[in-house]
Amino acid sequence: MLIDTHAHLQLSQFDNDRDDVIQRASAAGVEKIIVVSTDVVSSRQSLQLAEKFPGIYAAVGIHPCDCAAATDDDFARLAELAQHPKVVAIGEIGMDFYWKPFSAELQQRAFVRQLHLANELRRPVIIHNREAGAAILQTLQDAGIINLFGVFHCFSENTEYAQRVLALGGHISFTGNLTYKKSPLPAVAAQVPLERMLLETDAPFMAPAPQRGKRNEPALMVHLAEKLAEIKNIPLAEVARQTTANALALFGLAERI
Ligand SMILES: [Zn+2]
Ligand SMILES: [Zn+2]
Repeated sequence: MLIDTHAHLQLSQFDNDRDDVIQRASAAGVEKIIVVSTDVVSSRQSLQLAEKFPGIYAAVGIHPCDCAAATDDDFARLAELAQHPKVVAIGEIGMDFYWKPFSAELQQRAFVRQLHLANELRRPVIIHNREAGAAILQTLQDAGIINLFGVFHCFSENTEYAQRVLALGGHISFTGNLTYKKSPLPAVAAQVPLERMLLETDAPFMAPAPQRGKRNEPALMVHLAEKLAEIKNIPLAEVARQTTANALALFGLAERI
């Protein structure tokens, strides 16, 4: 069994075959999926999926690239939605300096606000970091977080950065870019203990090799698990067992239906 800890199944890319995609995931051994959100509307949609399918859970949150449009009212709605029993994380939240027009200050404010919400509700956070690694660590430090209950998703920093996340107590999640030719990430993954690792597709994005460039879906996560088994030189079953145990524990999935 595998757990896809990060997929955007509520997006329109899945409108024509969403039920089939979920069916294929379970046929491929991906029995649980966390549907991650980027604003209030997508958070509601994640929850609708979580209510409909037993193996689906929701993360609710406002993505850094969506925070400029977020009102106080949206943060209040988010806090309400986060009370739902199938909400297993606050995410995705964080900072993104790749898409330039977004103000760093606004992003930081939204990030801190949601870090506090997660803390109040004792939910883990799913952190999005794109070219904002230093600012994120600084923000966590300024917010007084010395023990990070959460995961850096779609990890694409170097080994030194990974060590800093691990020292903070955080988890590290790899996606399809781990499988890309010439990716520097296998060397990073080799240094991260399996006990602190999660796997995710980030579907519909980041399809792993050999499907790179196509629409990604949770069933394809096996390529990622195989790559990690090769990097760690351990059996695929061991990768599946440990990353599943990590996801169950971090997101408290075992206590939920
Ligand atoms: Zn992200
Ligand atoms: Zn995402």
